[in-house]
Amino acid sequence: KLREIWNTLFLNLAICAGVTLVVLVLTNVTVSAYQDTIERLAITDKLTGIYNRRAFDLLCRESLLDAARNGSNLSVILLDIDGFKGINDRFGHAAGDRVLVAVVRALQAGVRVSDILCRWGGEEFIILLKNCPLEQAAHTAEKLRTAIETMTTLVEQREIRITISLGVAQYRPGDTEESLLKRADAALYRAKEGGRNRTERG
Ligand code: GH3
Ligand code: MG
Ligand code: MG
Repeated sequence: KLREIWNTLFLNLAICAGVTLVVLVLTNVTVSAYQDTIERLAITDKLTGIYNRRAFDLLCRESLLDAARNGSNLSVILLDIDGFKGINDRFGHAAGDRVLVAVVRALQAGVRVSDILCRWGGEEFIILLKNCPLEQAAHTAEKLRTAIETMTTLVEQREIRITISLGVAQYRPGDTEESLLKRADAALYRAKEGGRNRTERG
């Protein structure tokens, strides 16, 4: 009789342990899936799915250290859509969003896999080009400019055409993220001042 009670007790304990184990495993899987999602959301731009500014800061810092340590060539392209406010005003914000997504697809198609494309904010994007000297980065910038210039986005049966202006800069010893981007930004400013739809070197 007592033996039967013991057996039942052990069986119950075993079932309990089994259920607990299954619950723990499921919890673990769910939590880590959530964690992955949260981590991805923290570094990506919602509209276009590319890296955001936070991600750029982290990746840029790493690349700067590498350039300083190994003397590798590091360049950045800062680009801004020309007259984008006009697109929103004429066709609406939703159409503007579609143009932004189309621009990102064209940029993605025009850079190397090792290049890091980020949404810098609004209608501004930044590309980090590792092992790429200034001349080569400027060549890539021109390729992107031409690709965007010839691209059309269909909005309400109308073909929208846009252009971009670009500023290119290469890492120099002693540069910080700030000083490097300052040169790229100054170059972009000159491209805008010079009439837009062009690339300038900083
Ligand atoms: P410029 O040639 O000097 O760059 O002129 P611009 O009109 O492009 O410059 P401006 O900075 O005045 O306008 C940028 C516009 O981009 C204003 C803002 O409403 C729009 N914008 C920023 N982020 C988004 C977005 O996520 N979606 C849409 N549709 N528009 C955006
Ligand atoms: Mg802008
Ligand atoms: Mg603009």
